[in-house]
Amino acid sequence: MSTSFDPAALCTACGLCCSGALFDFGPLAPEEVETAQDSGMAVLEAEDEFGFALPCPALDGACCTAYSSRPATCRTYRCQLLRAAETGDVAVERALTIIARAREAAASVIAQLPPGETITDARRRRREASASNGAAVMIAPPGLMMALGMLDLMLDQHFRHASERQIMPRE
Ligand code: SF4
Ligand code: SF4
Repeated sequence: MSTSFDPAALCTACGLCCSGALFDFGPLAPEEVETAQDSGMAVLEAEDEFGFALPCPALDGACCTAYSSRPATCRTYRCQLLRAAETGDVAVERALTIIARAREAAASVIAQLPPGETITDARRRRREASASNGAAVMIAPPGLMMALGMLDLMLDQHFRHASERQIMPRE
């Protein structure tokens, strides 16, 4: 089933793919680097490939303040939930409820972060904790890791495409 539906109705209530909740970075084409820097983004470079760090400084609440100059990845990215809402597989009201729950889960993680850290930093802590065995408790507060795990499960289930998942198995 197909519906006419304005994706902005979901995205302006969400912003999870810009806030660092869904991903740690976004890709950039080489010709987009200068514009991204002008928008205040932290440009990453590795092996001649470019990206920008998330959370994005152009995000204000759930809205993009660099909309007309945003990178191509921002123009084209559609999460699993948005695609399902566009095709009518998930009702818009249901999608908005899922977004509200995911934003609450992200807020719970953010509330437990040490000052100055981001969700990306928390994921790095989780990777370090996973690799450090006995030292895990010291470098990764259990409450924060539990909240992060619940957030990533929700994002895997409703937002990330199969190849993007962090907790659930990738297909
Ligand atoms: S996570 Fe999905 S619904 Fe949310 S802003 Fe990104 S594309 Fe839109
Ligand atoms: S430039 Fe705009 S759309 Fe792209 S990540 Fe930043 S806030 Fe989101």
